[in-house]
Amino acid sequence: MSEYLPPSSESEFENNFKQIKPLMNETEAYYESSRCLFCYDAPCVNACPSDIDIPLFIRQINSKDPLASAKTIYDSNYFGYACGKVCPTEVLCEGACVYNHQDVKPIEIGRLQSFATGKAISTNKQLYRLPASNGKKVAIIGAGPAGISCACELKMLGFDVDVFESKEKPSGLTVHGVAPYKITNKEALDEMDYLEKQFQYKVHYKKAISSKADIDELEKKYDAIVIGFGLGKTSMINIPGEDKENCFGAVEFVEKLRMSHHKTAVAKNVIVLGGGNTAMDAASESARMGAEKVILAYRRSKEEMGAYDFEYDLAKGVGVKGMFSVSPLEITGNGKVTGVKFIRTKTVNGKLENVAGSEFTETCDWVIKATGQSKQVELLKLMNGVSIDSKGRIEVNAETFQTKNPKYFAAGDAVSGGQEVVNAAAEGRKAARGIKKYLTK
Ligand SMILES: Cc1cc2nc3c(=O)[nH]c(=O)nc-3n(C[C@H](O)[C@H](O)[C@H](O)COP(=O)(O)OP(=O)(O)OC[C@H]3O[C@@H](n4cnc5c(N)ncnc54)[C@H](O)[C@@H]3O)c2cc1C
Ligand code: SF4
Repeated sequence: MSEYLPPSSESEFENNFKQIKPLMNETEAYYESSRCLFCYDAPCVNACPSDIDIPLFIRQINSKDPLASAKTIYDSNYFGYACGKVCPTEVLCEGACVYNHQDVKPIEIGRLQSFATGKAISTNKQLYRLPASNGKKVAIIGAGPAGISCACELKMLGFDVDVFESKEKPSGLTVHGVAPYKITNKEALDEMDYLEKQFQYKVHYKKAISSKADIDELEKKYDAIVIGFGLGKTSMINIPGEDKENCFGAVEFVEKLRMSHHKTAVAKNVIVLGGGNTAMDAASESARMGAEKVILAYRRSKEEMGAYDFEYDLAKGVGVKGMFSVSPLEITGNGKVTGVKFIRTKTVNGKLENVAGSEFTETCDWVIKATGQSKQVELLKLMNGVSIDSKGRIEVNAETFQTKNPKYFAAGDAVSGGQEVVNAAAEGRKAARGIKKYLTK
């Protein structure tokens, strides 16, 4: 049973979705930074996909110079504030901190990072000077972490940059997907405003690149094109009843929740299908929106779930119940969802098998499918020579992020198939350097 009542105002929504990594004040940041051992060859840095000089930025906080600290962070990661809040630090930098070996709480690197970058954002500190234009133009498709990071780095390298974004807001899944108890909409968008002012790339909002004509125009006008459009809608599971009312994808549910907050109605009885981090988010968020019963149903065992342990703990902490080794056979109901028919499963010689005669039906009003996002394959087919692998991921050179068509570069989820904000941000930056190499050789 969920402990949350459905929020009926913005303040009730904020209360149900209290930040799990709230911003530190000066005293907290100073105290926490003083605990850092400023390790040589620091393991926290080796664990960071964006190679931030963590001991240096923590030392700068400790020297009461948060703006210098912010510069150290942005020098490596343009999503410094967002990453401090949304990164799975438990398995990255903080998970690698030497204090873990001494039974002492690791340094709260993520919160320190957001503290320092938050100072730069709130004071609108100009940290960079842009070089003169080199006359070359780059188009970026998608204003998510990959696209925006690439735009910032390209501007620092002297390129003219136009970003084309199908939605009204930048930052991609940072504002449309990540759980609201990790980062608020305002926080995500304030960092985007800050970057847009600082680096002066142009974002064309509500401008989807979707037809051959759109692509031809980009190819004609620009010297290079960056694919940063992430993934598509939730994939179908292909079982009967998936088209019933009140059966929908987790990514679509989470986006609606992030955009409409307390105005999103959530049913009393929810079943979430899946065992990844998105399933944990959708289940947690349903419970925090006041759903009375939320079941997370996964076809394999708890140990085999793809989700991080801390994400499952967060869901359990708000009353979500796990149901393991069950596979959905059918979404039941007459027009609207009334339940899910499951069959129990077992693993035999590493293969998942259904247990004959073990079918049962669990009632619910909503089914949320967290069964992965589809790839934007149709759009990619319009881009001559851009090849994909058997899983629909764009094939790129691992160093330059150039695709098989030399004019196209790609970064983020469209390449990895779905990782974290920090990975997309790091790849966007590398793609910008790849473009420099290509256009100035
Ligand atoms: C529910 C959910 C929760 C997540 N939680 C976390 C988390 O807690 N921490 C974390 O680090 N990561 C999290 N992630 C993963 C993370 O958000 C992504 O890895 C990251 O956002 C990928 O960045 P990207 O730029 O490649 O793609 P996206 O963020 O998807 O951005 C792509 C952008 O391209 C735009 N676009 C798409 N098609 C077109 C088109 N045809 N024309 C123009 N624009 C287009 C989209 O509107 C979007 O703005 C989560 C993902 C999901 C789905
Ligand atoms: S490993 Fe921990 S103590 Fe060492 S530099 Fe990194 S944050 Fe500081």
